[in-house]
Parts: sequence; structure tokens; C-alpha cells
Amino acid sequence: MDGRFRKVFVAGHKGLVGSAIVRRLERDGIEPLVVDRHALDLRDQRAVDQWFAKARPDAVILAAAKVGGIHANNTRPVEFLLDNLRIQNAVIPAAHAHGVRKLVFLGSSCIYPKLAPQPIQESALLTGPLEPTNDAYALAKIAGIRLCQAYRQQHAFEAISLMPTNLYGPNDNFHPIDSHVLPGLIRRFHEAQNAGAERIVIWGSGTPRREFLHVDDLADACIFLLANYDSGEVINVGVGKDISILELAQLIAKIVGFRGTIEHDLSKPDGTPRKLLDVGKLSALGWTARIGLEEGIAETYRWFCAHVGSVR
Ligand code: GDP
Repeated sequence: MDGRFRKVFVAGHKGLVGSAIVRRLERDGIEPLVVDRHALDLRDQRAVDQWFAKARPDAVILAAAKVGGIHANNTRPVEFLLDNLRIQNAVIPAAHAHGVRKLVFLGSSCIYPKLAPQPIQESALLTGPLEPTNDAYALAKIAGIRLCQAYRQQHAFEAISLMPTNLYGPNDNFHPIDSHVLPGLIRRFHEAQNAGAERIVIWGSGTPRREFLHVDDLADACIFLLANYDSGEVINVGVGKDISILELAQLIAKIVGFRGTIEHDLSKPDGTPRKLLDVGKLSALGWTARIGLEEGIAETYRWFCAHVGSVR
């Protein structure tokens, strides 16, 4: 870890991404600065400013966000737009105002146009219309990227923006309806297996393709880029490979031990047909993902089984 950063504030430390970053920092013997949700509402600009004035971190990893799967995004766009704008509009200016040396902003691959050429290069940003099922979230994140660039341009503030692909791992949201596909299916297959069900239903046609990155790999990339990347241009973080939703379902069935049939609910949206990130820029800097998908899902499934009574 870069010696300039003694006090690293991880915003959103209880979430999928934040908790992985905390684990990663602790592995290096760094105790990150964190603050509980009930002690500080990150959407509250004044409270955040006052907290920064006292805590005075050297670096900030902004992993706090309102996130959710295709159904949650599609049905509650107000929260996805407003909460994310509020969080970033509170944290980024406070970080700059109170002497933070570097800030890492986390976006998502859904900021790119729905029909961007695949694999998606960073230069595809703002070159076409967004996928409508998550455009509220995407627009908030695009505003966050621009805010980081604006602080860099106007105040030479070292803010970088990482665009991770679809993430999964421990501490994910396994909600049956609001979650993303991978944790949602882990839960559904687990419950079907326990109930001895002969069939399971997945949403949509199963043909959309998605790329999945284990959150421990993302956390590693985050710390790597905190030390080795300093540019206003966004940088993709992914594995460079994708699979169809049906193939994902079959893989999860194998890991969980479910042998029944997989059926489709075509009344549910497919979302964007494909969003595979081009990870050439990150590879050129010397970082690649390490955790294979089957291994990562198996580990996540073990975590899910150990926490099944308390998962979100
Ligand atoms: P997206 O990557 O933003 O589209 O978000 P999701 O991870 O929620 O969905 C990815 C794809 O998986 C979409 O095509 C969904 O229709 C499909 N899918 C299949 N079954 C499920 C499920 O049980 N939950 C979710 N969230 N998506 C599912």
C-alpha cells in the first residue's frame, strides 16, 4: 500500500464491495476507517462534511451506493437516481474540502450504451442510449464520474473512477426479487434443492450474456489502482470473459446439486443483451483477475449456506 495513505476511509463497509475492500486492507495490516450507517447518513451533505472535518482520512474508497438487480432498478428508479446522486454529491466534495489525497469512485458496466460494441472499451462512454432497465442508476454514476473529472480539472484533485463488471461474493444481497442474477439464483436453486423441486424458473430468455467478477478480485484491483492509476479517464475492471444466463444457471445447478429442469419466465425483462468489458487498459498496467467463476461461485455458495439465516 502507498505510504501516502495511512487513513483509508471505506464508505459502504457493510456492503458487498466495501466489506471485500476492508478484508483486503486488513490482509495488509491496514485498519480502515469506517462509519456505521446509523452514525452517519452518507446522503446528508452537512453531516458528511462535518464527519470529514473530524476524521480527516488520507484516501477514500467510495463503495457506498444504492444497488440492486434488474427488477429493483426497473421499479424504483427514484431511489437509484436520488440516493446515488446524494451519496456522491456529499462524499466527493467533502473529500476534496478536507484534504483527502486520493479518492476512488466506483461505477458499473451499466454506464455504457446498451448497444456498445463488445468488448466494451472505456471510450464507449456517452456514445449512445443507455439500457432503460437501469438508466437511473447509470445516469447517477455517470454524473459521479464527471464530478470526479471536474474536481481533477478545476482543483487538481486526485479522483479516479473504476467501472467494475457484474460482481458477486460474500455479503451480497440474496433477496429473491431485488438481487442480481447470480446471488438470486444461488438462493433459488438452494431452496429448490432443499424442497426436492423438479423444476426451477429463471427470468427472461436465458440468452443475455454477463461477465462476473468475484468481489475479492475487485477489492484487489481497487487497492492496486489506488497505488498505480492516476487519470480522470475511467478504467474497466473485469475478467474479460462472459457466459449466458442459461449457462450461469446450469453452473449454479451443478454446484448446488440441483438436477431438475430449468424453465423461463418470459414476462421478465432480459435487459441489455451483452456487457462484456474490454480489460486491456487494466491488463496493460499489470493486473488480472485470479478467481475462476466455478471456484468463486462454489465459495460464495459455501458462504451463503453458512449465513443462510441472516443473509439479506
Ligand atoms: P443486469 O445485469 O443489470 O441486467 O441485472 P441482473 O443481474 O438483475 O440480471 C441479469 C440477467 O439475468 C437478466 O437478463 C435477468 O432477466 C436474468 N435473470 C434470470 N433469472 C434472474 C433472477 O432470478 N434474478 C435476477 N435479478 N435476474 C435474473
